[in-house]
Amino acid sequence: MSDLPLLTWGLVVAALVIGILAGHFGWGGRWTASRGKLHPDYLAGLDYLVTEQPDRALDMFLKLMDANADTIETHFALGALYRRRGEVERAIRIHQNVLAREQLAPEHREQALLALAQDYLRAGLLDRAEGLFQQVSEVPRLRASALDALRGVYERQHDWQQALGVYRQLARIKAAPPRLVAAHYLCELATLALERGEIDDARRLLREARAETAPFPRAVLLRAQIAERQGEPQLAVRLLRQALSESPQLLQDELPHLLDLVGIKSRDEVLAELVTVAESRDFGELKHLVFAAIAADLADAAPLRDAIGKVFSQDATLRAVWQAGPAQFERIAHEIGALLAQAEKHRCIECGFSGRSFYWHCPACHAWESFEAYAIVKLR
Ligand SMILES: [Zn+2]
Repeated sequence: MSDLPLLTWGLVVAALVIGILAGHFGWGGRWTASRGKLHPDYLAGLDYLVTEQPDRALDMFLKLMDANADTIETHFALGALYRRRGEVERAIRIHQNVLAREQLAPEHREQALLALAQDYLRAGLLDRAEGLFQQVSEVPRLRASALDALRGVYERQHDWQQALGVYRQLARIKAAPPRLVAAHYLCELATLALERGEIDDARRLLREARAETAPFPRAVLLRAQIAERQGEPQLAVRLLRQALSESPQLLQDELPHLLDLVGIKSRDEVLAELVTVAESRDFGELKHLVFAAIAADLADAAPLRDAIGKVFSQDATLRAVWQAGPAQFERIAHEIGALLAQAEKHRCIECGFSGRSFYWHCPACHAWESFEAYAIVKLR
């Protein structure tokens, strides 16, 4: 039916019933006297709800609520419920219905505008959502939530300058998300500057990103890209190694790039250093390095031999392959490499979205830095 747990549904329906009854009869003493006079439309609405005819139920409840100014909170509860269930058109109807009331208190009008903006956002009507969130952000009481939602709208439009501007406004009222988010906006802007060939602007933006948070491997990767473009391969190698050391999951995509940069003559030397560093840190990092190397068809590189043995010995099947001797091992390593190259390499730990590309910003749930090296994590 939905992602909403049954218990939550039950609670909201109960709240709805209480809300409607409260509005219909008034609280307290009149309740006992009125219980025999339950409005037939209300009962019909409940019937429709029970028999899963939500549009009819909604018609009934809206009709009832129109007659009862006290039930406005119930409107909001029902609207939010529909939105969470993904039934956005129904949520929009409810909130427009509230806004159409003649004698609406200002705080209810503001709340309805905010709710309607959230409906539009959920429906993907970003322009409408943007306008309403801007309007509501002028209300001090709702400013933080409206600005934060507006930040989400600009993220989805990839309007990083506006997103950063709203982030700064949120920071001024101490309601901003972690500074990592601002650092990513600055990296997005730096990437665009690089695409336009505006290297100085890109450098400035990356400096600002580093001032927001550290360590921040994304900015280091971009600086490596600039160094490479500017004909400074040694600096590019140093920066790329720094980024990989700060974020080993980048090895999967960046190890072949690093080895290209250092050239075939220095390949084994660099691999040996990477193995030493990974071993001195943790097993997870060594595993990332080993599988990234196998995926890059480097299973037979001498400096990796012991490291591969160590990682494979943690798994019964792989240990048997490893012990079967070099010829057998190399064949299997190539097969694993081919599988890794074809696999869905990355996955968002927040929502499970997976694919072959790595994203700093999840295209599905819009979380930042939520991707793990899935194919490697799956290999135990
Ligand atoms: Zn996600």
